[in-house]
Amino acid sequence: MFEYAPAPESRSVVEIASSYGLFIDGSFDGGKDGNVFKTVNPATEEVLAEVTSAGPEDVDRAVAAARRASGPWSALPGSERAKYLFRIARIIQERSRELAVLESLDNGKPIKESRDVDLPLVAAHFFYYAGWADKLAYAGFGPDPRPLGVAAQVIPWNFPLLMLAWKVAPALATGNTVVLKPAETTPLSALFFADVCRQAELPAGVVNIVTGAGDTGAYLVAHPDVDKVAFTGSTDVGREIARTVAGTGKRLTLELGGKAANIVFDDAPIDQAVEGIVNGIFFNQGHVCCAGSRLLVQESVADELLSSLKRRMSTLRVGDPLDKNTDIGAINSAAQLSRIKELSEIGESEGAERWSPACSLPDRGFWFAPTIFTGVTQAHRIAREEIFGPVLSVLTFRTPDEAVAKANNTPYGLSAGIWTEKGSRILAVADQLRAGVVWANTFNKFDPASPFGGYKESGYGREGGRHGLEAYLA
Ligand code: NAD
Repeated sequence: MFEYAPAPESRSVVEIASSYGLFIDGSFDGGKDGNVFKTVNPATEEVLAEVTSAGPEDVDRAVAAARRASGPWSALPGSERAKYLFRIARIIQERSRELAVLESLDNGKPIKESRDVDLPLVAAHFFYYAGWADKLAYAGFGPDPRPLGVAAQVIPWNFPLLMLAWKVAPALATGNTVVLKPAETTPLSALFFADVCRQAELPAGVVNIVTGAGDTGAYLVAHPDVDKVAFTGSTDVGREIARTVAGTGKRLTLELGGKAANIVFDDAPIDQAVEGIVNGIFFNQGHVCCAGSRLLVQESVADELLSSLKRRMSTLRVGDPLDKNTDIGAINSAAQLSRIKELSEIGESEGAERWSPACSLPDRGFWFAPTIFTGVTQAHRIAREEIFGPVLSVLTFRTPDEAVAKANNTPYGLSAGIWTEKGSRILAVADQLRAGVVWANTFNKFDPASPFGGYKESGYGREGGRHGLEAYLA
């Protein structure tokens, strides 16, 4: 097998300050209660920066700034708002190398993913919604659709900048202003984005970024002066937010967890399916809400498929996220690593068979080898709970009906995959799957024009596409 020489991207392309304030009303300032927290590089445990923890008074200031900006921003003609969004999109493209390195440093994801997936999609989202800003009257929501006002947006750490783009771009295009809280382990690209807003001369208060942990998020979503709450994160926190918002008249969208089935039928091209399985569960270290974390393979091809999959997994390179050859980077935090370890140990103790390729992991940082479990039954916790790491649970089936029944046997309903040569089978099976997105002979494909969202405990509301506008219109 080839050994690749190290090909590290230079980390000096991006400047990281030693400390960051909050971005409120167009400028950075320190928090009122003086609390700070540190964000670390999960690949080395090195502290990257100290970040301000926003307290209630800070959130109040951010919401007030967004409220003041809301009238003038929503009164602008859509074509004027579009100019700002186009400008933001172009600046993101121009600064994408800096942003990709920053994202990989703070999150642990491989540079080839932040560079070739996250950043192009972030820019595409702003371009896409910029295009809608002056066409809202033709979007199917009435002749004069109005914005909601101030949107409180809380996002997770797995795609920090992409989740920001999914939230901020449609909100701004529709004439809303926002207060966004990034996740506490990955605040840096959102703070960089604040600088992009300044560079684009976005009017003060239209975008406000408050950093902090769950209590900052809880205070923000409960704030009486926000009109809309958009949350992406875990189902448990989503439930809590739904309770907070119930009965307040605030609009709510929730993008929560998943436990997607990736179904391989006996007529599927095995090599392509193996690539799709690897992409489905090992992309972004498996920190993907729509990851294909349950492989359902037809019994007659299970042995052949699993031996190909193991062979392919042995070629995955785990290590330095900044190395351009790296396939699997670092687990985002010590807390997430311990959850992955715990669930994997439970998988073993419940009787599933665990396998990982031989791979040496760095001494420092948070790492987990790509792992598959075979002999998994529907009763096993690793078949039911979201692991949110590079761990695949393999189950088998004999008939299409059994595949559908097993795929739908989950409290979640975010995504699914189907691998077969038969177009008619794709349509018949997709029709029966209770999942917001169904990929056929591919996996983890995203496009700003395509709506994304879940059923059941995966949440409600759609982001992306024309549907994504609706969540921000009265
Ligand atoms: P999390 O729910 O713990 O945190 C998400 C965000 O919510 C963070 O910014 C956090 O600070 C904030 N938060 C925590 N407690 C809060 C509270 N009580 N009120 C308001 N905000 C609060 O989730 P996580 O562990 O950071 O992210 C992983 C989860 O996100 C996974 O379950 C994954 O499936 C889900 N996710 C879903 C999607 C989707 O589109 N459906 C996308 C990415 C991630």
